[in-house]
Amino acid sequence: MEKTLIILKPDCMEKRLAGAVLDRFQKAGFDIVAAKLTRLSPALLAEHYAHIADKPFFPALAKFMGSRPVLVAVLQGEGVIAKVRELLGPTDSSKAPKGTIRGDYGTDVSVNICHASDGPESAAAEIARFFKPDEVFA
Ligand code: UDP
Ligand code: MG
Repeated sequence: MEKTLIILKPDCMEKRLAGAVLDRFQKAGFDIVAAKLTRLSPALLAEHYAHIADKPFFPALAKFMGSRPVLVAVLQGEGVIAKVRELLGPTDSSKAPKGTIRGDYGTDVSVNICHASDGPESAAAEIARFFKPDEVFA
């Protein structure tokens, strides 16, 4: 069964929206098969955001993402990778339609509530980055 990795970002945790965001994923029919609270280190953020580590916004993004503990989870279900991205909406919260998670709760292009894997390869790599095999109850 398909799996994806999500991170409820510091703004989501600070606004106490973890339950509301997880509720959307669960109501869409997906199961939480792994979860933990963790504070992302600079080394882990450099690895997780390797595709944008050379961008001018990366230092601010890394500071934001490491600013407080985040909730990392694995969701499972048919078509979960694409469907979770659809539920999130586009990266820039200010352009995300109402009814999407980022459109309803996000702030801007950086502070946008939730990360989700963008394809099968990144999902596999990201799940392995955050969880040991026996921590995923697939
Ligand atoms: N980001 C940012 N400024 C930008 C683009 C992205 O701060 O101009 C941040 C934002 O938090 C985003 C993350 O970098 O969620 C990862 O970027 P990506 O392009 O992978 O977007 P996502 O997959 O999260 O929609
Ligand atoms: Mg991405």
